[in-house]
Amino acid sequence: MNIQEKVEAYLGKPVAQASNKEIYDGLLTVVQEMAAEKERTDSKKKLYYISAEFLIGKLLSNNMINLGIYQEVKEMLEKNGKDICEIEEAEPEPSLGNGGLGRLAACFLDSIATLGLAGDGIGLNYHLGLFKQEFEDHLQKETPNPWIEEKSWLKKTDTVYPVQFKGLNVNARMYDIEVTGYNNKTNKLHLFDIDSVDESIVEDGIDFDKNDIEKNLTLFLYPDDSDEQGRLLRIYQQYLMVSAGAQLILDECTAKGSNLYDLPDYAVIQINDTHPTMVIPELIRLLMERGMDMDDAIDVVSRTCAYTNHTILAEALEKWPVHYLKKVVPQLMPIIEVLDDKVRRKYEDESVAIIDRNDTVHMAHIDIHYGFSVNGVAALHTEILKNSELNNFYKIYPEKFNNKTNGITFRRWLIHCNPRLTALLDETIGEGWKKDAAELEKLLAYKDDDKILDKLLEIKHKNKEDLCAYLRETQGLEVSPDTIFDIQVKRLHEYKRQQLNALYIIDKYLEIKAGKIPTAPVTAIFGAKAAPAYVIAKDIIHLILCLQEIINNDPEVNKYLRVVMVENYNVTKAGKLIPACDISEQISLASKEASGTGNMKFMLNGAVTLGTEDGANVEIHEAVGDDNIFVFGASSDEVIEHYAKADYIAKDYYENNEAIKAAIDFITSDEMLKVGCEENLTRLQNELINKDWFMTLLDFDSYKETKEKALAAYADRKAWAKMALVNIAKAGFFSSDRTIEEYNRDIWGL
Ligand SMILES: *Cc1c(COP(=O)(O)O)cnc(C)c1O
Repeated sequence: MNIQEKVEAYLGKPVAQASNKEIYDGLLTVVQEMAAEKERTDSKKKLYYISAEFLIGKLLSNNMINLGIYQEVKEMLEKNGKDICEIEEAEPEPSLGNGGLGRLAACFLDSIATLGLAGDGIGLNYHLGLFKQEFEDHLQKETPNPWIEEKSWLKKTDTVYPVQFKGLNVNARMYDIEVTGYNNKTNKLHLFDIDSVDESIVEDGIDFDKNDIEKNLTLFLYPDDSDEQGRLLRIYQQYLMVSAGAQLILDECTAKGSNLYDLPDYAVIQINDTHPTMVIPELIRLLMERGMDMDDAIDVVSRTCAYTNHTILAEALEKWPVHYLKKVVPQLMPIIEVLDDKVRRKYEDESVAIIDRNDTVHMAHIDIHYGFSVNGVAALHTEILKNSELNNFYKIYPEKFNNKTNGITFRRWLIHCNPRLTALLDETIGEGWKKDAAELEKLLAYKDDDKILDKLLEIKHKNKEDLCAYLRETQGLEVSPDTIFDIQVKRLHEYKRQQLNALYIIDKYLEIKAGKIPTAPVTAIFGAKAAPAYVIAKDIIHLILCLQEIINNDPEVNKYLRVVMVENYNVTKAGKLIPACDISEQISLASKEASGTGNMKFMLNGAVTLGTEDGANVEIHEAVGDDNIFVFGASSDEVIEHYAKADYIAKDYYENNEAIKAAIDFITSDEMLKVGCEENLTRLQNELINKDWFMTLLDFDSYKETKEKALAAYADRKAWAKMALVNIAKAGFFSSDRTIEEYNRDIWGL
C-alpha cells in the first residue's frame, strides 16, 4: 500500500473528502506505524538523557522529513486539494519545556537518533505543558494548553514503577514517543505520568489546588514556585521522574546482563541542568536496596552520571531546604547527608559543601562531586564556570570540566521551516549538508555570484510576505514586507534585555515625533512568555504591548516604525518567524546568556546578528568575522568587574544621558498612561532607574549606535545578501549533530 492508501484505509473514505483534522489523525497513525517498523538503535552501552523538559514541538512534519516521506505526502495532499500547512495546523503543540534548555533536549534527541547512537530521553508527561499566553488589556494572561488528544504521539506502555513519597505511594506509568532519526533508526522518549492526574481541578486561568498531589503531580510544567506549595510540587515532580527513570535504567541494564557493579559499561546518564539531580541519591538508594554496599554504590553512580550546567544566574541554581526534602522524599536525606559528610571530610572549603550552614541542599554541588563530567554549553560560559562561578570546584576537579557548545537540528530549523532556502541550497551545493553540516561552507564559493545573492534576497522577501499574512490572520496586525524585520523572540527575562530593545524603540519614536526621519522603515518584532510569577518580566510585556498600540496607530510614526508582539511564542511560531528575519537581536548582558540557541537558528536562516559578546554569540562572531555581525556592549570581563565592585549605578546614566532620560520618562507619560496601567509602568520605570540589575542603561548608547549601523547597512542590498550568505555558510558548526558527536567522543563513549 502507498501512503494515500494507508491513510484512506484508516479514514474509511477518500483523502479528498476528509477534514484536515481527520487527515492529521490518519497521517499520525501511518507515521507512527512506519516509525515502529524501523529498527531500534541498540548497543551494550546506552545513553539516558534525563531532563525535566523536552520542548519537542509539533512532530508530524519533522517525523515525515526524517522518514523520508515528506515530499511524497505533500504532493499526495496537493493532488487531493489539501495543503500540508493546513494539516499541520490541526496538530496541537506539546509545550513540554520553557525555552532554550528544553528545546536543546529535543534537538539532541533528533541528533542522537540521526547519528545512530543508542540513547533515550527520560522526562515527565505534563498534561498541560507550559501555559498558553493570551494578551488582554495589554497584559499577559495564562491559560491551560492541553495537547494530549485521543490520537497522539504518546504510546501508553505497561511499564509501571512504584514511587514512594512521604505518606503517598504512586505508580509511575511510562508513555513513549518514538524519536525518528533522519534516514536512520529510532530511539524513544520515555515520559512518566500517574493515572490519577485530573485536569478538571484547574480553576480560573492556570490556578489549581497545589496540595492535591495525586491529582496535580504532572498537570503542568513547573508550576508557579513563588510559594512553598509550588516549590514542594516541583520536588514531587522531580522525584517522580528520577525514581521511575532510575528503575527503568537498572531494569534495562540487568536485562542486558549487567551485575550492577559494571553499570558504567551499560549506561551513561546525562543530567540536563540540576532538575534531575536527585537521580544520584536515588540510584545509590536503589543499588543499596539490591544489596550493594554504600561505598560501592556511590562509586558506581559517580562513574555513570554526567552533568550539564546551563546557567550562572545565582537565582537559577537550585537549592532546596532540608526540611522540604524531608517533607517529600525523606528516604533520600540520609544518603545526601553521607554525600555531604564525605565532601566535608575531604575539603575544608565551605563553598563546595552539599548541605550548607543554613540547612540548604545545593543540587549542582551533588552533580559536580558525584558525576564524572561537568560541561558548560558555550566556550565563554565554560570559561566563566571554570574561572569564576565554579572556580572552587574547578580547582578540585580540573579534569571533569569540559565545553560542549550547543547546537540545533537543521532538520527542523532549516529543512522544515525554510523550504525555499533548502531548495536553493540543494540546487547550489547538493544535499550532502543535510547529513554533514560542515558542507554548508561550499556556499562561500557563491559569495560574489549575483544570481545567488538575488535569490537569497528574493527568498527572504517571500518568507517575510508569508509572515505578514500570518500576523494578519492570527493577530490582525498589518506590517509590510518591505520594512526591515528586526526580531527578538525568546523567554522574557531581564538578563535577555527586551527592555533595552524597547527603550531603543521609544527613543526612535521620540526622534520621529521631533522630525528626525529614519532612513529605512523598521518592524520591531517580539515574542516572549514571562514566568507567571515574574512581575517585572510581565511589566516589560505590558510596556511592549502599549508601544505596539501607540506606535502602530500613530500615522506620523507608523510609516517608519511598527511594533509587533507575537502572542504565545512557541516552537511553531519560531518556525514561522525565524526564516523571515533580517536582524537577529541577541542582546543579553555579557556573561549572562549561557549559550543561546535562537541565535544559531537565525544565523542558519540568513539573518544577521546584532548582539553582545555573550554565550555562543562569541563563537558566531568568530565564525563569520567582524564584517558579518554587529557587535556592541560591555564585555563579560567588564560586567563581572562591575558586579564585583558594585559600581554600576543606573541612576547616573538616567541623570546624565538625555536620550536615556527621555526614553525612561516616556514610560509614564500621559500618552502611555492613556493605554497602559500606571502601577505596572511606574514599577518598571522605578526598577530601571533605581536598580537595573542587568545593566540596560550601561549598554544603551553602544546598542543604539551599532543598531543604526546595521539598519544603514541594510540599504546596500547586495552587501547585505553577502552577509546573509556568509552567516548561512558558517552555521555548520552549530548543528546539534556536531554537538552530539562531541558529547559522545568526550563523555558518553557509546
Ligand atoms: C530556540 C528556542 C528558544 C531559545 O531561544 P534563545 O534565544 O536561545 O533564548 C526558546 N523558545 C523556543 C520556542 C525556541 O524554539
